Amino acid sequence: MAGFDPQDKPTRRQVLTYGAAAAALAATSGKAAAQRAEGQPLIGNPQLPDVPGERMRWAIVGLGSFAVGQVIPGFADARHSRMTAFVSGNAAKARDLGARYEVDRFYGYDNFDRIADDDQIDCVYIVLPVGLHAEYTIRALKAGKHVLCEKPMASSAAEAQAMVDAARAANRQLGAAYRVHFEPNNVHALERITNGDLGVMRYISADHGFSANPDYPPHKWRLEKELGGGGSMWDIGVYGVNTSLMMLPGDRVVSVSAAYATPAGDPRFTEVEGAIDYRFRMASGINVQGSSSYCWNPYVSRQRYFGSKASIEMQPATTYGDNQIMIEGGEHPPRTYRAGDPMQQFAAQVDGFSLAARANTPHRTPGEMGLRDLKLMEACYASADADGAVVKVDIAV
Ligand code: NDP
Repeated sequence: MAGFDPQDKPTRRQVLTYGAAAAALAATSGKAAAQRAEGQPLIGNPQLPDVPGERMRWAIVGLGSFAVGQVIPGFADARHSRMTAFVSGNAAKARDLGARYEVDRFYGYDNFDRIADDDQIDCVYIVLPVGLHAEYTIRALKAGKHVLCEKPMASSAAEAQAMVDAARAANRQLGAAYRVHFEPNNVHALERITNGDLGVMRYISADHGFSANPDYPPHKWRLEKELGGGGSMWDIGVYGVNTSLMMLPGDRVVSVSAAYATPAGDPRFTEVEGAIDYRFRMASGINVQGSSSYCWNPYVSRQRYFGSKASIEMQPATTYGDNQIMIEGGEHPPRTYRAGDPMQQFAAQVDGFSLAARANTPHRTPGEMGLRDLKLMEACYASADADGAVVKVDIAV
């Protein structure tokens, strides 16, 4: 059902309808107009309030910085999703957040499997450190729930394969939480690229990084192999890998090469790499070139798409609220603009998953996509471990 924002301008049809009513009223003026109660057209947002049972009901697992800062507030704008449960190792924090967001069902990691008996949970959103994704995803699938799992989907491609297999065995949906596929500016860039506005795509570059602070708890586990899964490539490089491939539908990666770029002697990087540069050769003949780093200041999130007629640069490209598009070349005088509010991506992502889970239709970012990216990132490590040797692959986008 199409939305109706009260701030929208009235449509031509609405103007005509209300105009006719106003004219009829004017014609009766002068006479004693009889006042009577009568129904009026629906004005406002017909999506809200919704029938609660029609929204998919979500449990959020892991109430850390991303869950509390972005995922949970994002539900406020959702139309097909609502939160019913929190899963946390910190019961007091969970209850505090529950009071703020009207969530009244709570689980810990020890009694997590009891969600199987909870008919108020349809979908589970895993927002735990990466090393815990596979375990909790598989447990949730076995409990009969659909699962959206944060990026990167697992510590390894083998784990990701086990997650995909578990979803098939349970006949439940598994999604990789690649929010960029629901972010209006990136969706718009994809439309321009597939419409041919850039001509033929010739080259993509992707640079993503920030400076990891080992004293900050959400960064600390990212520097540990067991909880982080990998280093900068796993955490921040995955945005470049996934977003670049999002813009190349139907292509294939045929080989991968990479080189570590970790600063020598940096004490942060004893378990995982601090930085890596990579290149994917595509079957179409183009290259995707990228870098990821835990050693850059300020934060970098940049995607560039070079076509035969025009190019797009997005800087920032994959942030929560600031993404923008710069297009130039061909018929396009240089122009920087925003196609939509990036903050919509959080609600759009959970709603997209809810709709797919409810109707059992394909999801825009399925578990298989999470698995694909892990295979590619493992190929990057294999190449970097062999001093940049080319690793042949054949991976469909
Ligand atoms: P945080 O460290 O802030 O939160 C992780 C939470 O997981 C903790 O607060 C805790 O929640 C729970 N947890 C359970 N066991 C452990 C453990 N052994 N060590 C640490 N935490 C544990 O991490 P983030 O919120 O930054 O990241 C969580 C996930 O979200 C990751 O997969 C990350 O890659 C992803 N992410 C995605 C982003 C995106 O844009 N899509 C952005 C940022 C992160 P509790 O106390 O409730 O048990």
